[in-house]
Amino acid sequence: MQTQLADFIRDTPEGVEAERILRSCVHCGFCLATCPTYQILGDELDSPRGRIYLMKQYLESGEVSEKTQLHLDRCLTCRNCETTCPSGVEYSKLLDIGRNLIEKQVARSPRAALQRYALRQVLPRPTLFSSLLALGHAARPFLPASLKSKLPEKQNSSSRPQARHARHMLVLEGCVQPALAPNINAAAARLLDKIGISLVAADKAGCCGAVSYHLNARDEGLDYMRRNIDAWWPHIEAGAEAIVMTASGCGVTVKEYGHYLQHDPAYAAKAAQVSALTRDLSEVLLAEAELLKSRYVPLPKPRARVAFHAPCTLQHGQKITGVVEALLTVAGFEVISVSESNLCCGSAGTYSILQPEISTQLRERKLGHLQARQPEVIATANIGCLTHLQSGTATPVRHWIELLDET
Ligand code: SF4
Ligand code: SF4
Repeated sequence: MQTQLADFIRDTPEGVEAERILRSCVHCGFCLATCPTYQILGDELDSPRGRIYLMKQYLESGEVSEKTQLHLDRCLTCRNCETTCPSGVEYSKLLDIGRNLIEKQVARSPRAALQRYALRQVLPRPTLFSSLLALGHAARPFLPASLKSKLPEKQNSSSRPQARHARHMLVLEGCVQPALAPNINAAAARLLDKIGISLVAADKAGCCGAVSYHLNARDEGLDYMRRNIDAWWPHIEAGAEAIVMTASGCGVTVKEYGHYLQHDPAYAAKAAQVSALTRDLSEVLLAEAELLKSRYVPLPKPRARVAFHAPCTLQHGQKITGVVEALLTVAGFEVISVSESNLCCGSAGTYSILQPEISTQLRERKLGHLQARQPEVIATANIGCLTHLQSGTATPVRHWIELLDET
């Protein structure tokens, strides 16, 4: 694609990156077929190619309207288009640049601005989030059914083994997961303990930064990333083998710290090392497959029928496919096939709150496919997908590590 970026952006690091990405797009349109918003809305401006055109237009003219912002807001950042694109267009990096610049030029309504601010204030703060969640649970009997369905059931924390092995890995506790589903990291710690690896959390680590960054509060997001690097660094120097992610949404972000902080001279090298050390939990267990086989004995058949929902951040963001399904199968579960498994469930970080109508349509479509063969349980790998899907079904939705931990 030919480009002629405007003066305001041309020679900046963002301009150079945007130009490189724009030029790699050959307009073929293959990406339209796998874009969830294009499938639902049928408007090319709600497709990857359409959004690329809109961003090109803006970066070349410097002029932008609410309409452009709306079409960019409607993108799920699912990155299905990146998986499909034969030219390797790094769409999500271009979207980050476009959204962040446009946020500064197009004012949002006071209500929309307040909603986005509130999300940035509440979600990355585990203490505040868990207090509000506890209030919601206390008020549950008085809530209308529509709100009740959005409030996840209370989950009590289960026991975690003490760190006792020479082999140790860091784990990110994250922001909302400790309050919503504390059993996920406890289950991961128990299973890894069985194969001789201790999972430890760094005290001062917290939100991965994705919430703020993707709500276009870029500097705030980068500060969360720097805070995590500072919290992990002494452990990395002390020999932590990996930084384990139990939520694929956090994992895809931390794996890209090196990219996000590439222009920060104080953090660029550390960020790159943190990204290189970061592993999804499924990658850790795959690498320890021999140990798993020797020390971990699955229960005999018959086992539960499981439908696995692969989060976009796992399959498109981190390009990890088939690993969780293989681990569940080895443990004896019957993993059933799911149609349209490449499509987003509509959760997408804060998308389910900011774009509820599209999000609900995608959730219903996804649940239809997941439940088509009557699974006893739906498994997934990201807390956002888990709570979003659970709000639309009575079938239990769980993190896959909880299923493995119970065998
Ligand atoms: S598939 Fe890739 S090259 Fe083709 S239009 Fe979409 S982004 Fe551009
Ligand atoms: S990231 Fe997802 S929603 Fe956004 S343009 Fe690509 S495929 Fe469509």
